[in-house]
Amino acid sequence: MEEYPVPEEWMQDISRVLFTSEQIQERVAALGQQIARDYAGKSPLLVGVLKGIIFFMADLLRAINIPVEVDFMSVSNYSPEARQQGVVRLVKDLETPIAGRHLIFVEDIIDTGLTLHYLLRSLQARQPASLEVCVLFNKDKRRLIDLPLRYKGFDIPDYYVVGYGLDYREKYRNLPFVGLLKAEALHRGG
Ligand code: 5GP
Repeated sequence: MEEYPVPEEWMQDISRVLFTSEQIQERVAALGQQIARDYAGKSPLLVGVLKGIIFFMADLLRAINIPVEVDFMSVSNYSPEARQQGVVRLVKDLETPIAGRHLIFVEDIIDTGLTLHYLLRSLQARQPASLEVCVLFNKDKRRLIDLPLRYKGFDIPDYYVVGYGLDYREKYRNLPFVGLLKAEALHRGG
């Protein structure tokens, strides 16, 4: 596979690559095959939250060789107080009616689980036929709520990671790998 270009300025801020582009692609392909097997004949709807999900969703969709549909929602940055209660504000809702549909909630990373718990509850209220979660990076060290994760890419330690769609203050999303930021880059703030 052809290598993706990497912004040199941002490479200097990375202390360690956790997963290479190849490792991610391989795992995403396996998740796609598993989903295709489990949902044959069901035409599932994949739902993601912008913007961190863009690369994972694009790669996962192409790894699923059965008919699927996709839709996105967007949530606001929440205050620390609201975050503690797991409350997020929906900025953009789904365009697709989901009652009776087989939904797969595709999530880039789960930390405490509060965000996902809140969003799943709100989707469940619209009565989909089924609702499962597919997460790429699972950090369960700080998990506050037990969540059923049907499809899981990687378990990772309690680090702040960037790349492959994941940002720090809107930077680093276009890194093709997932890595750790140096402390000075975190403190510099963006
Ligand atoms: P939770 O509600 O599970 O604590 O937080 C989930 C959200 O926090 C993710 O959807 C993501 O936006 C953000 N997040 C949590 N951990 C990380 C991380 O290591 N890197 C990045 N870029 N975002 C993270």
